[in-house]
Amino acid sequence: MRITGYKSHGVAAAAALVNAVTSAGGDDSPGALRRILRENGFFWQEFEEADADDFRRWGRVLRPFFDAAGLEEATALLNGLMLEIPMHPHLSDHEPHGLHMHYAPPSSRLVERFRATTLMNLAELVVEHGLGRTGACAAEGCDRVYADTSRAGRRRFCSEACANRTNVAAFRARRRE
Ligand SMILES: [Zn+2]
Repeated sequence: MRITGYKSHGVAAAAALVNAVTSAGGDDSPGALRRILRENGFFWQEFEEADADDFRRWGRVLRPFFDAAGLEEATALLNGLMLEIPMHPHLSDHEPHGLHMHYAPPSSRLVERFRATTLMNLAELVVEHGLGRTGACAAEGCDRVYADTSRAGRRRFCSEACANRTNVAAFRARRRE
């Protein structure tokens, strides 16, 4: 899979949604949800405020995937969701992605397409990389999650800020010893 290509959009969107909805200080306002859609190549123009609760619910549903203790737990969760979410895979050719897979039935609403795409992209990520690309931020006191769609794939923190804070703390601890 192209880790930096189209498929990573659903993965990044899933992590952003989970953080918006489930982390302390997360912003799950309609405006913030619309921004997540826009930044990740979804048809954000179709978003309506009445959809916000459906998106928030989906963020809460996906949280346990990022917190999963092992591959078995994560796989069971994704398999359960793939049985629940209506799927009807087909090819679509539109900007900005070019020819690519759509997973929800063709006439689905935006939130239904979002569920199907994020779910399938996470499943594909797990097939390719196990749980090595997703997880909860390793920084102390941070409850955000991350999805690493970079080529190197060594990320363990939700942000540069958390990575730096943790490195500084570790450096100070070493110096005290
Ligand atoms: Zn963090």
